[in-house]
Amino acid sequence: MSLANGRPYLAIPGPSVLPDRVLAAMQRPSPNIYSGDLITMVESLWPDLLDLAGTRGHVAAYICNGHGAWEAANTNIFSRGDKALVLATGRFGHGWAGTAQALGVEVEMIDFGRSVPVDPARVEAALRADPAIRAVLMTHVDTASSVKSDVRAVRAAIDAAGHDALLAVDCVASLGCDEFRMDDWGVDLMVGASQKGLMTPPGMGFVWFNDKAAAAGKTAALRTPYWDWTARAHPQEFWQYWFGTAPTTHLYALRESLTMLLKEEGLANVWARHAALARAVWAAFDGWGVGHPSIGLNVADPAARGHSVTAARLSAPDATRLRHWCEREGGVTLGIGLGMATPQDPEASGALRVAHMGHVNAHMTLGALAVMQAGLTALGIPHGASGLADAAAAIAVKV
Ligand SMILES: *Cc1c(COP(=O)(O)O)cnc(C)c1O
Repeated sequence: MSLANGRPYLAIPGPSVLPDRVLAAMQRPSPNIYSGDLITMVESLWPDLLDLAGTRGHVAAYICNGHGAWEAANTNIFSRGDKALVLATGRFGHGWAGTAQALGVEVEMIDFGRSVPVDPARVEAALRADPAIRAVLMTHVDTASSVKSDVRAVRAAIDAAGHDALLAVDCVASLGCDEFRMDDWGVDLMVGASQKGLMTPPGMGFVWFNDKAAAAGKTAALRTPYWDWTARAHPQEFWQYWFGTAPTTHLYALRESLTMLLKEEGLANVWARHAALARAVWAAFDGWGVGHPSIGLNVADPAARGHSVTAARLSAPDATRLRHWCEREGGVTLGIGLGMATPQDPEASGALRVAHMGHVNAHMTLGALAVMQAGLTALGIPHGASGLADAAAAIAVKV
């Protein structure tokens, strides 16, 4: 007998839970891509995507995942031999750096480790030392470590150094979950993807950019016909939005999710919901860790924690045992610890992640935490008794 039978809950940080309404919106025959409903519907997406990012700039869409969106960003702003300053707070910062390097971009990396945010003073010093840096690449929330960095502070560091570098931010894990205001925060370029806070299937990547990035891009020699953002952002003809056939079914999914996020719930409420659910998850781990320091959150400072995913540790191999138990007995699939140790390192089985991104609410997050507490008990993993009650109390405070 397993108590997992029932609706499964994929609580890994992407792909995220698809709302039934999004799934239903996709159930349709292939639409005509030359005229009719699809064309008008798609025109309604762009202003909403700009609102989502908090920008009056431009957005280019791609049939790709987050890695593709990195490549789109890289090729539109860099030439071979250009310099990028990459600020890494986990695996995904290194990922973006790697894709830039492979294209011939010269990468200077500041690695802040896996538990603390970007230190803007070090960014300022690095920029002062090298006027040739063309762009600063940073991750808003690194999905592997769940570290969130202060984007405004990095903008201020660039300005304090009197430097002309572009500020490019990866918001794949935070867009539609954590507060983000592209124009107000002085961001020149931002990348996102469909399958996390946007609650739609993997397969669409987006790059938002302002006029400064567009101007810089005019001399980017890495641009290729497919990745070039110029016509995608301002096409003469419909097919140029995707440089070929549009991702028809995905677009209906996106229409539905943007309606849910922007028109119905409202972005401020979406951000507040994610903040409240995140606090519940943090409270649970804090409670389980009382008297048991082997259980704890990866990021000590709450201000430096993402609101869409939480990385935590248990004694190895208990994180892996708990993940397996929760999936087998409770129908909840938790995220693996990613990039916190090499897979061969026994410590890798001491890390896990709980996702709370996108289409999630109090009963889903509290339910996942309750299953985790049941698993801790069933597996005989010593833990503080108050975890679940503390999580519920954190939710109650919000209301
Ligand atoms: C998920 C993620 C990516 C990569 O996205 P894929 O769709 O897996 O290619 C990049 N950056 C961040 C911050 C992410 O969370």
